[in-house]
Amino acid sequence: MDVKIFEKSENKIVVEIDDINPAFANSLRRVLLNEIPVLAIEDVDVIENTSGFYDEGLAHRLGLIPLKFSKLNLKDECKCNGKGCSNCQVSISLDKKGPCVIKASDLIFSSDAKPIDPDIPIAELLDEQKVKLEATAMLGVGRDHAKWQPAVVGYRYVPIVKIKDKSDIAAALKACPQGVFVKKDNTIGLSKPINCDLCMRCAELCEGISVSQDDTKFIFTIESVCGLSAEELFLKALDILEDKSKDFVKAVKSVL
Ligand code: SF4
Repeated sequence: MDVKIFEKSENKIVVEIDDINPAFANSLRRVLLNEIPVLAIEDVDVIENTSGFYDEGLAHRLGLIPLKFSKLNLKDECKCNGKGCSNCQVSISLDKKGPCVIKASDLIFSSDAKPIDPDIPIAELLDEQKVKLEATAMLGVGRDHAKWQPAVVGYRYVPIVKIKDKSDIAAALKACPQGVFVKKDNTIGLSKPINCDLCMRCAELCEGISVSQDDTKFIFTIESVCGLSAEELFLKALDILEDKSKDFVKAVKSVL
């Protein structure tokens, strides 16, 4: 197995993983989407709401605000079994009077949790309209609700682009939307074949080009939409996958 990093920032990782199959790639993607605990608003107690936005809509919008949180204060291995305690939840309050647009930055948190983007709009208040509420954010996982989905994750096969005959491939240079081909010294060659998105346009236009895919090599793109970095999510997903595999092996061995 081989791993190559193509791109790495706080919020995004693009990585190639070789010598795996679609089942393994899908397992990794599903763990990334569904199994990593992150923070989202779960309970909302509306004390006063004279805005044009009904209570349920307000609560739904609050739940979808991505929140950053300190791993030191919130423990995903909390022992309260989902009942909620200071280890896995944060209290939030909001008290605003119009005219104004309520933004995520108006939420007051009991700990150092905060919205990823303070400018996320929640509701618009006209003159004299008021919203007052208390809420609780809890750790949860994406398999229970999409608001706890920590990342956007996609993968694709590694493309294989080959030039078999250079005599009539000018159309491919123009048609390729990903800049895979380059013209140098009056000759067309390959520039960045890894960027190919397998649209097949070049192969349809030029018989001298073949495009295929390697179904043992996958390019993963992981974009964090929670308080954890893309690297933390990737490593956490691998730990979870390892633990699940160990549990499975143990369970099978115990009955054989
Ligand atoms: S298949 Fe599409 S993206 Fe890939 S090289 Fe051909 S034109 Fe470019």
